[in-house]
Amino acid sequence: PFQYAPAPESRSIVDIKPSYGLFINGEFVDGHGKAFKTISPATEEVLAEVAEASDADVETAVKAARKAYDKVWGRMPGRERAKYLYRIARIIQERGRELAVLESLDNGKPIKESRDVDIPTVAAHFFYYAGWADKLEYSGFGSTPLGVAGQVIPWNFPLLMLAWKIAPALACGNTVVLKPAETTPLTALLFAEICQQADLPPGVVNIVTGAGDTGRALVSHPDVDKVAFTGSTDVGRAIAKAVAGTDKKVTLELGGKAANIVFDDAPIDQAVEGIVNGIFFNQGHVCCAGSRLLVQESVAEEVLDRLKRRMATLRVGDPLDKNTDIGAINSAEQLARIKELSDIGEAEGAGRWSPACDLPSTGFWFPPTIFTGVSQAHRIAREEIFGPVLSVLTFRTPSEAVEKANNTPYGLSAGVWTDKGSRILHMANQLRAGVVWANTFNKFDPTSPFGGYKESGYGREGGRHGLEAYLR
Ligand code: NAD
Repeated sequence: PFQYAPAPESRSIVDIKPSYGLFINGEFVDGHGKAFKTISPATEEVLAEVAEASDADVETAVKAARKAYDKVWGRMPGRERAKYLYRIARIIQERGRELAVLESLDNGKPIKESRDVDIPTVAAHFFYYAGWADKLEYSGFGSTPLGVAGQVIPWNFPLLMLAWKIAPALACGNTVVLKPAETTPLTALLFAEICQQADLPPGVVNIVTGAGDTGRALVSHPDVDKVAFTGSTDVGRAIAKAVAGTDKKVTLELGGKAANIVFDDAPIDQAVEGIVNGIFFNQGHVCCAGSRLLVQESVAEEVLDRLKRRMATLRVGDPLDKNTDIGAINSAEQLARIKELSDIGEAEGAGRWSPACDLPSTGFWFPPTIFTGVSQAHRIAREEIFGPVLSVLTFRTPSEAVEKANNTPYGLSAGVWTDKGSRILHMANQLRAGVVWANTFNKFDPTSPFGGYKESGYGREGGRHGLEAYLR
């Protein structure tokens, strides 16, 4: 059974070192770039200094991955690779509390989310893909690995994004060089320790920390066969350009502006919980967040009324307190962006509302916020805010809901709340989104594929489909 982390002393269960090197060829080594600090966004306290990988360090890491692929991992029978993945999965479970606390410290997310959602889902991905390692001939995508994968991930689900990338890559027989985001490197480095603990052969997993320059060096390295990126649409575009004309295989998981659609026959209490979970889970730092509420006019007043009452009960504060619902915003830059877009929403004439909320005086915080009277032309209806901010629009008919939901350059996810099964199927077929949730939201499972339409990217991660990206 999972041990619940007591708060706030739970900080003491993690052993954070003052400084961290890069993880290359099975060991921690010095970096040759300029070291940077990672802070706790809740307190602005410096947690550790982390090495930046220079171009030469990236080169060393890719060489280590290539050698491990050629000599060991690419030749190992699937059943043997599976043993390592199962071992990693079990260590993640055993060290779950430690990983959850470290994730909440470095990222700012509530401990009840890192403990009950992120870390168990990370372990689930390693278990799931371990099961595929010796069955790839049934995958439908062949069974030959690509070689070395260069993987770049964002800061919103640091360890979960790592699992989405590393578990299928390794199961298929590839080796990896992964770059975590610069504001959340610590759990990836703890994962490196877990690889050592699992006796994973040196060079199979390499972790290079750093910012955009390190990422650029990695994805454009000529000996990287496969590029997997999750992050913003702008950087995704830059990466697509950087690899154009090469034979690298690429998957991009980018931004979103999902519609959460509530029909008048929906179970309203359940829908309100789904709206709250859709936009306030992980401070709204979720690519598939339900950031546009489309509510049918006849129930709009009732839904908004109940939503406001529910929002007034949300607790914003210390990520390590297990009663916290909304933690810290990940960085000062992200907070500035959320504030800027919210101010624009107000200036454009939408009605802004937040419950009374005592925000801590240090750290980065934003109250749960809704905007009503939003029109499709408003920037807050079009641009990804990536924070706890919901834009509310209304509709009269199902076809108007479809038209509004699809009126976005993105297409990652959507939610439908209704009592009618036939309407769910109809909407799922009409919505141009990779994932459509029905009477639920933000549910993740390793067995189901995830990915976008349009500017939300291409390729699928998760499930059997997730294997395609790592096989020739
Ligand atoms: P970002 O694009 O700024 O950074 C993502 C990663 O790319 C970081 O590790 C960063 O250091 C690196 N990077 C920056 N410039 C690079 C370059 N030129 N070449 C290579 N790497 C580079 O995004 P972010 O702010 O960290 O994350 C938020 C974004 O990620 C949001 O838009 C969100 O929607 C998206 N996201 C998408 C998914 C998904 O599955 N579709 C999941 C989570 C987050």
